[in-house]
Amino acid sequence: MRKRLFGTNGIRGVVNETLTPQLALRVAEAIGTFFNSGEILLGYDGRTSSPALASAVASGLAATSCTVYLAGMAPTPAIQYAVKNHRFDGGVIITASHNPPEYNGIKVLGNDGVEISRSQEIEIEEIFFEEKQKRAEWNKIGEIRKLPNIIEEYIEAIKKHVDVEKIREKQFKVVVDPGNGVGGLAAPRLLRELGCKVFTINANIDGTFPSRPSEPRPENLGDLAAIVRALNADFGVAYDGDADRAIFVDETGVIHWGDRTFALIEKEFLKQNPGETIVTPVSSSTLIKDVAEAYNGKVVWTKVGSVDVSHKMKEINAKLGGEENGGVFYAPHQPVRDGAMTTALILEILAKTGRKLSELLNELPKYFIEKDKVECPENLKEKVLEVLYEELERENLKFDTIDGAKIWFSDCSILVRPSGTEPIFRLYAEAKTREKALELIKEYKEKLSQIIAKVT
Ligand code: MG
Repeated sequence: MRKRLFGTNGIRGVVNETLTPQLALRVAEAIGTFFNSGEILLGYDGRTSSPALASAVASGLAATSCTVYLAGMAPTPAIQYAVKNHRFDGGVIITASHNPPEYNGIKVLGNDGVEISRSQEIEIEEIFFEEKQKRAEWNKIGEIRKLPNIIEEYIEAIKKHVDVEKIREKQFKVVVDPGNGVGGLAAPRLLRELGCKVFTINANIDGTFPSRPSEPRPENLGDLAAIVRALNADFGVAYDGDADRAIFVDETGVIHWGDRTFALIEKEFLKQNPGETIVTPVSSSTLIKDVAEAYNGKVVWTKVGSVDVSHKMKEINAKLGGEENGGVFYAPHQPVRDGAMTTALILEILAKTGRKLSELLNELPKYFIEKDKVECPENLKEKVLEVLYEELERENLKFDTIDGAKIWFSDCSILVRPSGTEPIFRLYAEAKTREKALELIKEYKEKLSQIIAKVT
């Protein structure tokens, strides 16, 4: 197996264990060589290690004669937007998104602000492992400059994509929970400019994430839900550490998982843009398909991973994409996950429909989701999938093979997917009743175990 630096979301590791400033510098020399003396924007999230790693990356990029522009601390989507807006050749973000505080990572962006493709990652890995870094002569070292104001420009850009007047008229009351991440730098300001009365919790940037884990999940947003209710707010919104994902709490204090808010955005989008294609990973809820069918849209499924969604959207020129974890991609702004843009879209929907968030979300079809896993040695995964496909074909079942096997039944579905990081298969079943979802899980766990026993 070839050596790899990049995982599903850039290069990630525990700081000063698997990800040291030294490694960051060497990786940056490979990135700089890949960009061939280009102009590169560099920014970072609020983690304690981010400034140190960013300095190392700046040095490596400059050493390979790139001109480095420092954006400083900012939400990931703000840095992505700035790369496109200022026509840089590429960008680098120091972030580990929603991972625990001891982690950090390096994300590489192309000239449109979207993460580079898998094949470009391999090019960088080749430069790195074969030590083909092109260090410049002493008089060709790149300059390191500052680029101020990217957050202001980002906020202005988002406002161009929603009906600002209509939102302002409503004077919404919103509670924002950035979870001590960089979301606090953009969203509260954007919402105030949209005429909202904004309350914040956990808005001080603290890379130790003292208030809640940096991944917003229903089980850790209780404080936000309680404050939304106590203040009689229209809704609450929580961001992950680098603010590309948004999870919403309705005015009654109910926390909704990302596929439901994505489906709401999808519905209103398709009403305005019938016939459009929606891009989403195979792990997303059937809800996305139901809404597309009901409102004259098409769904294109991708592998699990935001980079796959972004690249598919670019390839087929799709305007809207989304993930179940709260990542919404709105391409008229940029085809990447963007927490503040997502919040503006929800505000616009509330303003235009004049209805409560709970009402809008509760009228969407309801599904029960059950998850489980089956252990399987890494070297057997491929063979197991092959046999599973053969069996599904023999049984005449309808299934997709985009990422594992997604098997469609008339009123339920199950995804059986090899994990990219652990020696397991993950199972996600979805049905109209909890019993049916559990039944599906049981059936496919058995099937998978039998296949694994057979091929061992
Ligand atoms: Mg993130």
